Amino acid sequence: MISKIKALEKASQALEPDKENREKIRIEIEKQVARFIEKLPRGSVLEEEGAAQNLDALPPKEEGYNQKKILDTIEESLLKPGINMASGGLLAYIPGGGLYVSALADYLTAATDKYAGVYETSPGAARMENRMVRWLCNLVGYDEDSFGHLSSGGSMANLTAIVTARDEMKLLENAAEKVIYFTHQVHHCLIKALRITGLAQCKIQLVPMTDDLKMDVTSLQRLVKQHKEEGLVPSLVVGSAGTTDLGRIDDIQAIHKIAKLENMWFHVDGAYGGFFLLTEMGKKELKGIQEADSVVLDPHKGMFLPYGSGAVLIKKGCQLFNSFYMKANYLQDTQVEIEDLADFNEVSPSDVSPELSRHFRGLRMWLPLQLYGEKVFQSALEEKILLARYFHERIQKLGFETGPYPELSVTIFRYVPEEYKDDLEKVNAFNRKLMQAVQQERKVFIASTTINGVNWLRLAVLSFRTHLYHIESLLTSLKKRVG
Ligand SMILES: *Cc1c(COP(=O)(O)O)cnc(C)c1O
Repeated sequence: MISKIKALEKASQALEPDKENREKIRIEIEKQVARFIEKLPRGSVLEEEGAAQNLDALPPKEEGYNQKKILDTIEESLLKPGINMASGGLLAYIPGGGLYVSALADYLTAATDKYAGVYETSPGAARMENRMVRWLCNLVGYDEDSFGHLSSGGSMANLTAIVTARDEMKLLENAAEKVIYFTHQVHHCLIKALRITGLAQCKIQLVPMTDDLKMDVTSLQRLVKQHKEEGLVPSLVVGSAGTTDLGRIDDIQAIHKIAKLENMWFHVDGAYGGFFLLTEMGKKELKGIQEADSVVLDPHKGMFLPYGSGAVLIKKGCQLFNSFYMKANYLQDTQVEIEDLADFNEVSPSDVSPELSRHFRGLRMWLPLQLYGEKVFQSALEEKILLARYFHERIQKLGFETGPYPELSVTIFRYVPEEYKDDLEKVNAFNRKLMQAVQQERKVFIASTTINGVNWLRLAVLSFRTHLYHIESLLTSLKKRVG
């Protein structure tokens, strides 16, 4: 048996390349990254060539392929096709960009296989994540009782908050009598979360919106009163701290007042808008957010981290344990009793999250914060708000209709040609064409949305790489098509 084992050991040696073989691939990948990044500032946001289908030519087989062939395929079939999400020209969806030093942090994390599940096995990783959670809690204005975890994104973070609310509020008991309130501008991941958590059987109540597309708090109040009279139990209200469509911020203080009075759980989805708390402008707009029972932020948006970084924060951190702490025999040597914890810094992230073996997401956030400090983020975010406001003002002067003045960094606009002004279909089609024409220039990429049947073009500025150049470029492109 020993000779067989030794033969197998030899056969699997390639999995641990020596220095020379490590360099051979690392240097080539670094070159690829350098080429990609250096092309970004004035590069195209959409690549012309490159087809994802070419990947089909490399199915896994017994022996590996030639390295060059593999890297060429990555370049052609992975890096090129589609929208360049790292480009500053991306003004659609909610961009972020992906910080380079976070990529290096991930490299270090992955190469050392650091683990952020159980504190005992990797105290540095767990503490680093917990420190980042504390920093976020402070940013929101939560006190020391709050806690949370870093998730893979806003959808998972919102799901976690909904699970916590469900358990705390016992929403599955007589579910049909429990009422959940939000507006039609709520992110669809929350509706998914209700479906996943079994809460779709509750009464789901859409709250009407004001003309400037925020939750109409008077309507919320009226609906709550009416539901109580009908014998229903108002239980959960979701507010948006920056809607995806428009960047609108619901009146957080007013919703909180109602939620508190009626004993409802108040969840705030700040996946897009939360990080604007780093700016003075944002702080003013997001006043009262510390009153929410749970808050979601998305570091892969507002902190420009690479995709795969969300955060859920719960005002009463112990509620997260109630929903996610569980014992297992095979963990008996490492799992700590909650009562024995000195403080939240030593919590095992797996005790407050659905995941056990978790990607260590702390370093990709910690490293840029350590290197650059908070102020750089504040400046970048303030720049984004001002770019959106500048665009909003300029586009009105070009004769476009717009949505409300941007509170944050998203705004909507459309052009209504005089000859079509009574024909919504034609106006919608005109704006779709306008969008496609801008996209085909490949310098900047905008997308559209539909609000009450009206097709709006949408500008979302959040990549750290988006600057005045991109906004001017979009304005020029639009101007020449309507002028
Ligand atoms: C992006 C977004 C989400 C979803 O977050 P993901 O990170 O994409 O999963 C939820 N809510 C809002 C307001 C968002 O902008």
